[in-house]
Amino acid sequence: MGKTLIIGAGGVGSVVALKCAQNPEIFPEIVIASRRLEKCDELAAGVVARLEKEGAEKIPQISTDKVDADSVEQLVELFRRHKPDICINVALPYQDLTIMEACLQCGVNYLDTANYEPKDEAHFEYSWQWAYRERFENAGLTAILGCGFDPGVSAIFTAYAAKHHFSKMEYLDIVDCNAGNHGKAFATNFNPEINIREITQKGRYFEDGQWVETENLEIHRPLNYPNIGPRESYLLYHEELESLVLNFPTLKRARFWMTFGDQYLTYLRVIQDIGMARIDPVMYEGREIVPIQFLKAVLPDPGSLGENYTGETSIGCRIRGIDKQGHESTYYIYNNCSHQEAYRETGAQAVSYTTGVPAMVGAAMFLTGKWVKPGVHNVEEFDPDPFLEKLAVSGLPWHVIVDQDIELEK
Ligand code: NDP
Repeated sequence: MGKTLIIGAGGVGSVVALKCAQNPEIFPEIVIASRRLEKCDELAAGVVARLEKEGAEKIPQISTDKVDADSVEQLVELFRRHKPDICINVALPYQDLTIMEACLQCGVNYLDTANYEPKDEAHFEYSWQWAYRERFENAGLTAILGCGFDPGVSAIFTAYAAKHHFSKMEYLDIVDCNAGNHGKAFATNFNPEINIREITQKGRYFEDGQWVETENLEIHRPLNYPNIGPRESYLLYHEELESLVLNFPTLKRARFWMTFGDQYLTYLRVIQDIGMARIDPVMYEGREIVPIQFLKAVLPDPGSLGENYTGETSIGCRIRGIDKQGHESTYYIYNNCSHQEAYRETGAQAVSYTTGVPAMVGAAMFLTGKWVKPGVHNVEEFDPDPFLEKLAVSGLPWHVIVDQDIELEK
């Protein structure tokens, strides 16, 4: 139905490429571009080999290219060479604005999974990308922001609950549990630089019209996850909260929780205490290096964790409010994803899988005309129904539990 350009060939990019290729009627032509051509070639060959092994009847046309996505000029040349209908950005959040700029210059629609962050400041918010609204609207182009799992499915689950269950949604808790074990002493599940920057920030949640700041990982409590059991869960700031409280103004409180094991937190504390989480350059043997970038180079590649990863992830929304019949009600909507099953299908672990599958589904929504809306939009602004229908048959089935104890009080 359209030509798709995927930028980024890491853990998430590898899942996006395979899942798009499994849907050749929607994605007949795919281009994979990243900083290193050899990585794209390796990924493309791997996708074709998997499809052949699966006995696929039709294999899309897959080509590769090289781009430094920090350069608008290079991106424009890339877009002019390939003329894609949509660009799926699964490089790093630092590249969001250059890619959006090039999309505007070349008339290409846009989708990403993480909001823009400047390299020299560990700070993320949507204002930089929302500033492009008018330009995308005037150009008749659609930009879909935050279409991974969280952000992404977390916001679409919220939109689905608002559409089908609640007349007034009041309390939202997004709960993200990774109960997997990769057997390494310390590793992050997605890009280490982005991940460590995110979880070493101060906590923040929304209550009664205001943002409340907490110390880093200050608030925590055990929560029970389906098929997993209790896991200590820590309150973090997460980007989808920013758009959700605006798009669902009846929310009195919105929070985000993520599980961490004791060992992970001990390593993280050491990394911070010895200065390895620093994002400012330091001099080393006569040249500048950024400690967190050096750390990334020595930590396990998240894309390599899949083989020995056991256990599963469980991510969902626990919501409280007034249902359509006017009664107080709770609603828990979630997905569990097994690391082993994700690895068997794609060669990637469940964190890359749960991010890459929704990115493919979001692009499919655009290419099939279900999510076409010129402007810059967060995922909860689109119809959640066709997305969740496609998600369920694309490897991420989801479940709803109504009016049971969601453990999180008013
Ligand atoms: P990786 O580091 O594994 O992959 C990033 C890819 O982008 C690599 O191929 C990298 O190339 C490439 N890249 C980096 N910089 C550039 C550049 N300047 N030009 C061209 N290519 C570049 O990261 P992940 O796959 O783990 O994560 C990808 C994205 O997904 C991130 O933005 C992350 O924040 C997001 N994410 C979102 C989640 C969600 O649920 N919403 C969850 C997890 C991740 P090279 O190999 O050469 O470095």
